Order: sequence, then C-alpha cells, then structure tokens
Amino acid sequence: MRTGNLIIISGPSGAGKGTLVDRLITRVPDVWVSVSATTRPPRPGEIDGKDYVFLSDEEFMRRVLADEFLEWAKVHGKRYGTLRSTVEQKIAEGRQVVLEIDPQGAAQVKTLMPEAVLVFILAPSMAELERRIRSRGAETDEQVATRLATAVRELELVDTYDFVVENEDVSRATDQLAGILESLSGKES
Ligand code: 5GP
Repeated sequence: MRTGNLIIISGPSGAGKGTLVDRLITRVPDVWVSVSATTRPPRPGEIDGKDYVFLSDEEFMRRVLADEFLEWAKVHGKRYGTLRSTVEQKIAEGRQVVLEIDPQGAAQVKTLMPEAVLVFILAPSMAELERRIRSRGAETDEQVATRLATAVRELELVDTYDFVVENEDVSRATDQLAGILESLSGKES
C-alpha cells in the first residue's frame, strides 16, 4: 500500500488556516486532518473531540510524560499538541495527513520526520490580520495584542517553510494548497 504524506500548515492566528483546511477536505480525496489537544478553553460552538481535545493542564502534562505527543508547544500561554497514535496510523494507511500547528511544533515534527512538507499561510497585511482576529469576536483586546505579537515572531520563520500561500482570496489560496497536496501524491486535480 502507498504511504501517505505529512503536511504541516502554520501561520498567524487570523490568516485563515481553518477555512482553507475545511475547503481542502472537500477538494482533495484522502486528506485527514489531525485533531489537536489543547489546554485553552473551548470557544463558543467548538466541540470537544472535533475541533480540539480539550484537556486540563494536569491531564495534558500526564500525556506529555506518557510520550503520547508527536509534538507539543505553548502558544499564546496555553499548551497545544498533536497526539502521536492516530497520525502515524493514518500516514501508514496512505492518507494525506494535515497538521494545523504552530512553527515551534512544525520544527519539532520536521526534525523527527524530515519528509514532512511545511506550508505557511500568510494574511495580506498585519492590518488585515488584526481585522480578521477582531471580527471573530472571541478575544479580549489583550488577547488580540498577544496574538498579533506572536504573529510578528512567527513571520520571522517563514523562510524555514517549503511553501508559502498568501490568503488574500480564499478560492485562489485553496487552489494553491490543493496543488501542493496533489503534487505530493502525484495526482492531477
Ligand atoms: P487557536 O487557539 O486559535 O485555535 O490556535 C492557536 C495556535 O495554536 C495556532 O497557531 C495553531 O496553529 C496552534 N496549534 C493548534 N494545534 C496545535 C498543535 O497540536 N500543536 C502546536 N504546536 N500548535 C498548535
């Protein structure tokens, strides 16, 4: 059986990673998106086990010590991590496995699995990024400022990625992302 690929998607909060990944699922067969664990509280409408596996700090650290994470990192003051077992299983099944994780986690995975393909999603500008974060209405002014400061640090790492996709127009950005995945699996769209 063909082995799958591991595609890591990173980019600042508000760059539109979630929307692009949702579109990718409907567009490219074989895509499987990992559900991360986090210690941040659910946003309104988020479902445990679907959007994230929501864990207490204690439970998260127990799983770190049990070596259950492929990678984990602290982002905006909360812990986020990729659970190892399903990711390895889905790659072995030949799926196109997508991780939507921050650059610290991306670097950890790239060290362990150099064949992983790193894609960075950019918003057209910092002003647009701030507008998108505020339009979600989920964060306080202080949290928005933290996310923008993290974005500035993350942008410095863009050169370490294999591909950069600018998400000015969602359809065009989805086309680019789908093209990257299709080139990995050697299929035409
Ligand atoms: P949010 O709280 O907006 O859902 O996510 C905040 C940040 O955490 C985003 O940059 C997202 O990519 C990152 N993130 C989500 N899941 C993981 C994960 O499993 N590992 C790491 N390292 N970062 C993650």
